[in-house]
Amino acid sequence: MIYDGHCHVASTDFIPDAFLGDVACGMRRRLDVVAAGPPLDRLHESYRAQHRDHDADRLVAEMDAAGVARSVLMVPDFGFVMPGQPDLAAMARRHHEIRLRHPGRFWVYLGADPRRGEAGASEFADLVDRYAFDGLKLYPPCGYSPSDRSLYPYYEVCRSRSLPVFVHTGPTAQSLTFTTSEAILVDRAARDFPEVPFVLGHGGVTDVEVSAYLAAYRPNVFVDTGGFAGSPVAGGWPAHLNRLFRLGVNHKIIFGTDWPLNQLSGGLQRLVGEVRDGDEVFAGVSRRDRDLVLRENLLRVLSPASVDRADRPPAERRHG
Ligand SMILES: [Zn+2]
Repeated sequence: MIYDGHCHVASTDFIPDAFLGDVACGMRRRLDVVAAGPPLDRLHESYRAQHRDHDADRLVAEMDAAGVARSVLMVPDFGFVMPGQPDLAAMARRHHEIRLRHPGRFWVYLGADPRRGEAGASEFADLVDRYAFDGLKLYPPCGYSPSDRSLYPYYEVCRSRSLPVFVHTGPTAQSLTFTTSEAILVDRAARDFPEVPFVLGHGGVTDVEVSAYLAAYRPNVFVDTGGFAGSPVAGGWPAHLNRLFRLGVNHKIIFGTDWPLNQLSGGLQRLVGEVRDGDEVFAGVSRRDRDLVLRENLLRVLSPASVDRADRPPAERRHG
């Protein structure tokens, strides 16, 4: 059984059109070098077309085909940097409905932006309590450090409820800053909140050296593999993951795909199949470590209540 620690609902309802346009623009610039591929507007349209899974039905079908039992849905807060995203309360309600529609399949980490202040922190607490959400998702490229003091009220909410904090690290859409997304910036917060697990989003893919030593020496820091299939790494991603899994920090690595990223490269089934059944990814890695990465470490960062919900069998009636 596999858990995917990093997914998003592929829907323009939650991912702003400006973000997709930005991603399309970056892709077009890369294509410019080889003078291939469609023009920018068609590229942007194709990204929109990939984001019409508003109720996560296609994601669940992908998970079924890939043998993924449950996934974490991330709900980043882009409200301060990009237009077109509904407010947090609306996104929270929709993710709650998605969870009701697909019982037993999703954990949800709700987003925040520290510039929403104390009022934002209490709204976050209310929403998390109302819907029994499972963690906090931060997107520092929006322009704040994960150790910014204004986040501490949010971390208090997480500490009192035993919720993990998932922090995007490394590059992203070209219009956003990369200066606040360095992995090391998590250190201060992780030290000040030793009971709160901090997961470095993409830490197994970008800035791996720093992320791995943080995971090795900072007891409450974990590393996510999200985006592994699309990153520019030497020798291809299976070889990269294999190097990662031989660094001696498998007790801290959480497998994640960052769906719908890379959905065109064969979908979850091909990706997860290569990870689970391929010759390369877990070559020389013990069975025990493999289980930690693919399933157990995620359960270690979730609250007992979240783990409990995962153990409960899905409701008999799947829909309605
Ligand atoms: Zn993501």
